[in-house]
Amino acid sequence: MKKILLVEDETSVASFIKKGLSEEGYEVSIALDGSTGLQMALVNSFDLIILDIMLPGINGIEVCRSIRQQNKSVAILFLTALGTSENVVIGLGAEADDYLIKPFKFIELLARVKSLLRRTEKATPARPASDGDEFQIGNLVVNDYTKIVKRGERIISLTSTEYRLLLLFIKNPKKVLSRLEILEAVWGINFDMATNVVDVYVNYLRKKIEKDGAPKLIHTVIGMGYVLKESNEDTN
Ligand code: CA
Repeated sequence: MKKILLVEDETSVASFIKKGLSEEGYEVSIALDGSTGLQMALVNSFDLIILDIMLPGINGIEVCRSIRQQNKSVAILFLTALGTSENVVIGLGAEADDYLIKPFKFIELLARVKSLLRRTEKATPARPASDGDEFQIGNLVVNDYTKIVKRGERIISLTSTEYRLLLLFIKNPKKVLSRLEILEAVWGINFDMATNVVDVYVNYLRKKIEKDGAPKLIHTVIGMGYVLKESNEDTN
């Protein structure tokens, strides 16, 4: 169950939000002032913090800054009656993820909450980018539209065969590909020529993408072929 901390000094607003979010299946804790909210945020682990700005004691912006100094990953949504662009800028400058201006409809709040929780969930490695042209594993990114390959910030220059080989791997992450499958896909050869062309090209590719001690991504599966995956699991 997703845990949400609500820091809001108006008890009627706080209980209205808590009731609504609880009905949606979230576990909601309430703090009625800034210092209590900050303390709860630092001691417990929440998936999302909903933070009013005008609070007794420490205001929401200060609370947000202090939380960010300790825990970068929790999603923070500001609630504010101060709907001027200036205050919104201050809020996002304090590294909140989003804001909502009071008064708001519950359905708007719920939409923001869901979207923020989805965003933090998606922050896992090795997923293809939503834009279907981009593929990623670890910090290796292949953009099949621009044909640009990057490992971290470093641009890697590949020959067209190396590129097609890498594209095959990155479109099939974690799948063990046999030499024959690779031959068919990259060279258009549908029989085993008993050459080591696949091994040779895999080695070219490794030299380029696994340069300078970057973690290994292309692994040999003895008697089977090759697999592209992050090194944290087994084999070499
Ligand atoms: Ca308030």
